[in-house]
Amino acid sequence: MLFDDTIVAIATPPGRGGIGVVRIAGSEAVNIARQMLRLPRGLAANLAVFGELIEPGTGERIDEVVVTYFAAPHSYTTDDIVEISAHGSPVVLRRLVEVALGSGARLAEPGEFTMRAFLHGRLDLTQAEAVRDLIDSQTLYQAKIAAQQLDGALSKRLKPIKQELVQLIARLEAGVDFAEDDVSVMPAPAILAAMEKMQAPLQKLAHSFAFGRVVREGVTLAIVGRPNVGKSSLFNRLIERDRAIVTASPGTTRDLVTETTAMDGIPVRLVDTAGIREAKDDAERMGIEKSYEALADADVVLIVTEPGRSGPARLFDQELLDRAKGRPTLLVMNKCDLAASSPNEIAPPGIRTSALSGEGIPELRQSILQMVRGDDAAEQELGFLTNARQHSLVAASLKSLETARQAVADNIPHEMLLLDLYAALRPLDAITGETTTDDILNVIFGSFCIGK
Ligand code: GDP
Repeated sequence: MLFDDTIVAIATPPGRGGIGVVRIAGSEAVNIARQMLRLPRGLAANLAVFGELIEPGTGERIDEVVVTYFAAPHSYTTDDIVEISAHGSPVVLRRLVEVALGSGARLAEPGEFTMRAFLHGRLDLTQAEAVRDLIDSQTLYQAKIAAQQLDGALSKRLKPIKQELVQLIARLEAGVDFAEDDVSVMPAPAILAAMEKMQAPLQKLAHSFAFGRVVREGVTLAIVGRPNVGKSSLFNRLIERDRAIVTASPGTTRDLVTETTAMDGIPVRLVDTAGIREAKDDAERMGIEKSYEALADADVVLIVTEPGRSGPARLFDQELLDRAKGRPTLLVMNKCDLAASSPNEIAPPGIRTSALSGEGIPELRQSILQMVRGDDAAEQELGFLTNARQHSLVAASLKSLETARQAVADNIPHEMLLLDLYAALRPLDAITGETTTDDILNVIFGSFCIGK
């Protein structure tokens, strides 16, 4: 990719709409746009002008358009940008792009506008990723979190940590360079204290990925239990729609039924599984196997049971509890509307619900959310890690800091210690993109849509 030529792309989604926008960015943007426009007056920065889109040769009118000009460097990419808003017909927009290409523009690669914004220093890498997350957001909450990142929330949180590290490196470098000139070498306790000041917040940041991932990717919740306990009915209650087919004869949901819903803005993928019991035939056995797989893959497991069962039924519930051991699990006692019929029974454990009457469903929702969110601490802090790239870089930095700490404890010469500290700094720089290889950039921006 070149970064001083002029690029063009349709910025609005494919299909027909009221308006469609074509974006042209680069030093030739204004010249290229002018050839296909008839305007009452010249383009002025930050002003929208109403005019006509024309065939460059014949002057034949194609559409009425509104043209906005963002003069360099005050634009998304910091280049000259012209945005032409035409009526949203794919034919008109395609013609617009064709004419631009004929006048010397090049078709933009996916994410190239944002990549330019990054390469020209307008956005750092976490902000560029936030643009993608914002466009990909499925819930308003996700959009708001992405908007915080776009505002540089993560970079701001990283900055003081990096400053501490750079300061320590500078002091040690000075000690090494001027060792003979009586500059006092930093004593080990002072180095360790300085390192603690970056390790602790960095650890906390690494920890924030648990919540960041939940927000960005959502969670999978498997509903398991014996046949006929009301799994499908609960599934429907939770998605608030009649999607799963409910039947009165046990063991009918043999395939997994999946639906995504949003709980407080967090996408939750609900998986309704086949009832688990001793299989009578192959189809049922396969259904049960699938249920166990769903249980193993889920982030949260909902074990559904009903009151008043004993003997083998209890054993199956125990088997499910055992299988779910070690992962976030909620026990749900469904059909609590029937429980009243056996007043002698001891209050059963778990959240009491009735998929039939809706009783206990808000409480169930609340418990699911609590489990999904973990401690609320991460949420209160602005700027957290939202993707695996950022997380692995923080982990790499922490690892090098740990090596460095060991080096201090072992009285390793400062020249060597410095190597570890630089190794801790590099991944932090890579998070914001101060040091990044082209390969990584291509992976990140390749995941954008065209026109962004
Ligand atoms: P699944 O096999 O576990 O998915 O169970 P279903 O959701 O298909 O429900 C089995 C039967 O139990 C249906 O007849 C439902 O109407 C009924 N049922 C489900 N939940 C409740 C409940 O909370 N109370 C009562 N009384 N019946 C329920």
